[in-house]
Amino acid sequence: MLIEQARLAALAELQILDTPAETRFDRFTRLAAMTFDVPIALVSLIDAERQWFKSHHGLEASETPRSLSFCSHAVQARALFVIEDAAQDPRFAENPLVTGEPHIRFYAGHPVYSDGEAVGTLCIIDRAPRRLNQEQRQVLADLAGLVEVEINHLKAVTARMLAEQALKSLNTDLEARIVARTAELEDKVEQLSREVTQREAAEALLRESEAWNRTIIDSSFSGFIGADSNGVVVAWNTSAERIFGWSGEYARGRQLSDLVMPAQQREAHDANIRRLLDTGAGPYLDQNVELPALTQSGRQITIQMTVAAHEWNGARYIGAFVNDISDRIRTQQQLEEKQELIDAVLESIDVGVVACDAVGNLTLFNRTARALHGHDLKAIAPSEWPQFYSLYHGDGQTPMAMDDVPLVRALKGEVVRDGAMVIAPAGRAPYTLLASGRPLRSAQGKTLGAVVAMKDITELKASRDRLADSEERLRTITDNLPVLIAHLDQDHRYMFANAVHQSWLGKASDQIVGQTMVEAFGEDFYLQQKEALDDAWLGKASQCEHDIVRKKHIRIVHSTFLPHLRDGEVVGVYILTTDATAARMHERNLHALAHTDALTGIPNRRQFELALQAAVERAPQRERAFALFYLDIDFFKRINDTYGHAVGDMVLVEFARRVRKVVRSSDMVARLAGDEFTVLLDEVNSPRDVELVAKKIMQVMEAPFMLGSQPISVSATIGIALADAPGVTALTISELADSALYEAKDKGRNTFAIARLAMVAAVEQASVLA
Ligand code: GH3
Ligand code: MG
Repeated sequence: MLIEQARLAALAELQILDTPAETRFDRFTRLAAMTFDVPIALVSLIDAERQWFKSHHGLEASETPRSLSFCSHAVQARALFVIEDAAQDPRFAENPLVTGEPHIRFYAGHPVYSDGEAVGTLCIIDRAPRRLNQEQRQVLADLAGLVEVEINHLKAVTARMLAEQALKSLNTDLEARIVARTAELEDKVEQLSREVTQREAAEALLRESEAWNRTIIDSSFSGFIGADSNGVVVAWNTSAERIFGWSGEYARGRQLSDLVMPAQQREAHDANIRRLLDTGAGPYLDQNVELPALTQSGRQITIQMTVAAHEWNGARYIGAFVNDISDRIRTQQQLEEKQELIDAVLESIDVGVVACDAVGNLTLFNRTARALHGHDLKAIAPSEWPQFYSLYHGDGQTPMAMDDVPLVRALKGEVVRDGAMVIAPAGRAPYTLLASGRPLRSAQGKTLGAVVAMKDITELKASRDRLADSEERLRTITDNLPVLIAHLDQDHRYMFANAVHQSWLGKASDQIVGQTMVEAFGEDFYLQQKEALDDAWLGKASQCEHDIVRKKHIRIVHSTFLPHLRDGEVVGVYILTTDATAARMHERNLHALAHTDALTGIPNRRQFELALQAAVERAPQRERAFALFYLDIDFFKRINDTYGHAVGDMVLVEFARRVRKVVRSSDMVARLAGDEFTVLLDEVNSPRDVELVAKKIMQVMEAPFMLGSQPISVSATIGIALADAPGVTALTISELADSALYEAKDKGRNTFAIARLAMVAAVEQASVLA
């Protein structure tokens, strides 16, 4: 079997089966048929199941089944195989190729070899029995040898071709491998050069970053300190110099803890550093630690430090960035203290304070705000505030819309001042408040939020309501009293004036309130009361009397001014004005009675003496003299006796009237008693003046007094004292006038005499000199 496999493999290798007929083989079958004079010659190849003819001379069929094959036997025998008469041979006698077409009787086949295997035959066939002699057998063997050459020629060609192909493909493969290898090498080269470039770049970067690091460290605002594993300083930048006061030159090479650590922290610090250096771990590593430190000057500061440990050449180092945060901590402390103060104030004041941030989140409700609202702040939107916090307008009835809420208004940029609002949650007495607020802005003007302060005026409002009630009652009472009642406010304006002002001064209270006294009633009215009013503004109760003139009717009034004090300060003045006309008239009458002569109606002795005293007191200030006349009616007793006492009285009255007629109204004519009168001449230039007056008096008496039925002649004697020298007194001038009268009377009657004080003084002086 193995043998057959090798044979079939050799056959297959020839690649000849089922190929077209070829002249180079047909040439041999034709030659064989001719040479041996047989009808059929074949080049037969023995396949597994069949015999196939590469050339078939004298036979139609191109193949026959192997089972019928004669050639198979030749192949198997691997030698010339001859059947002289198939019909006589038991192996072939029944073979259809013997019994039928092509009626084989004689067969001779010689194997053809390839690669040592018998792959087929060259055979000759006759339809009649024959014999082959030795020579003929050799010829068939030779022809078979030629066929074998031909068959194997193809194989050789094929082998060469294959070899060529193989060579070619080997070549191609080799070339491809060379290309691949070259590419590989090129890649490698490129990679290497890339690596070189990268390394160079990395090295440059490293160099740069080292320089960069150094620059950063040198210029860093933070102090940078490097220390080795023994805690000895190896790096100390400019900022470290600034922070600690030690120069880098001094610091390098010294123990870090000696330089900056306060004694009490040194041990802990050294332990931490040691741990970091030994283990690369510990509380300092990659943390922002805050610790106390000392500067060169011994000042304690607080530093913030970030420490990292790194290894280099097998040794550990630490690098620390350090910032002096003393100022920051101090500022923070101050801020916290301030905040605490604000908190304390906010929690203790009785003003409600609420605040929100820029987007309307409530951020503050102080104690009073919580109490007023009955709620703490809640994280709800502004639109929910009115309802949640039960907010109403000042009337306590109208619910607030979101945009009316003072905090919302303030957040929108409005400055709210004393906006009235009411907080009225169900089941609790409402609070009436005045809300003031404003937006909170940063220094850059950015809105940060808003704040509103709320003052509880519930009590104030209630007491105001009560005050309004009592003012109403007061008004009802005061309007019906015959007195003016008014109240001036701090600005000296009427804040109250009762209805009596209408009838006394012609102005209704609503025309008066808000005005000053001058605006309401004129300058005259004010000036009469100014002095007393000023006293009241100084805190002193005062009063004064003045006139109210209306339509020519003069009312004499008495005003009392009471300062309205609050906390020791005058905040207003109450004015109570009563009508004093009747009382004053009565008083004036009494006064007149006391100072007037009842019979003649001219001033009496009392008033004369007052006037004389006043004249004496004014004397030194005036340039001109004054004169005193004593008048005595001549023989009055006789008039009385003749005409009766009543006529005597009438004479006195007429006498007084006539004297008054000839003197100036500023001169005073008085009756001292009985038939004695005086005239006080206020301004006298010279003795001639008094002489003229005396003559006028005498003249005016010349006409007879027409009293009753008959005319009465009346005359008077006049003594005149002229106060024309300094040092005058009431007594001296009176005595001088008296003596002048006696002198005149001595001359007879109806005459006058003048005595000058200057003359008396001169005489006195002369006598003193003498
Ligand atoms: P002489 O010329 O010296 O002045 O004489 P005389 O009569 O005027 O005398 P004298 O001045 O002494 O008298 C004044 C008289 O006036 C005395 C008195 O009776 C009288 N008399 C005094 N008061 C009144 C009075 O009020 N009415 C009247 N009718 N007579 C009075
Ligand atoms: Mg007389």
